[in-house]
Amino acid sequence: MNIRIGQGIDFHRLEPGLDLWLGGVRIPSEHGCVAHSDGDVLLHAICDALLGAAGLRDIGFHFPDTDPEYKNIDSKILLKRTYSLISEEGYSVNNIDCTVCLEKPRIASYTQEMKNIISAILRTLPENISVKATTTEKLGFTGRGEGVVALAVVLLTLPQ
Ligand SMILES: [Zn+2]
Repeated sequence: MNIRIGQGIDFHRLEPGLDLWLGGVRIPSEHGCVAHSDGDVLLHAICDALLGAAGLRDIGFHFPDTDPEYKNIDSKILLKRTYSLISEEGYSVNNIDCTVCLEKPRIASYTQEMKNIISAILRTLPENISVKATTTEKLGFTGRGEGVVALAVVLLTLPQ
């Protein structure tokens, strides 16, 4: 079997009064991501990892933040389109492992819902999606609550 690994990382600034979307779930929060889209940093990192694994450039190439079509777009739509791009090339998702770095709120109680949403879009099982969360021990911009970071690693398979 042909396997391909990919990694993705995304950053967004946090500001009070905005919705916080992570992994396709709206999470109650005092602050949310500043973005052209809905700012779902986790789904953006996953899109980049999927595209990278398939050798299909990156999220900014396929969905430019200068394009009005993507203004406030639900990032689940971007993930669906990314899945179409990789499945057209014959790839399927073996597994994905992600980490979100965020000082607050705590997101552990939402990760199963994220896994369900992500796996449904990517036509795989929830147990093939891992979403972990960490703080940065009050260090740096994430520790000060100024921003959020998400990292994703994916393994794609291509039948021979
Ligand atoms: Zn992003």
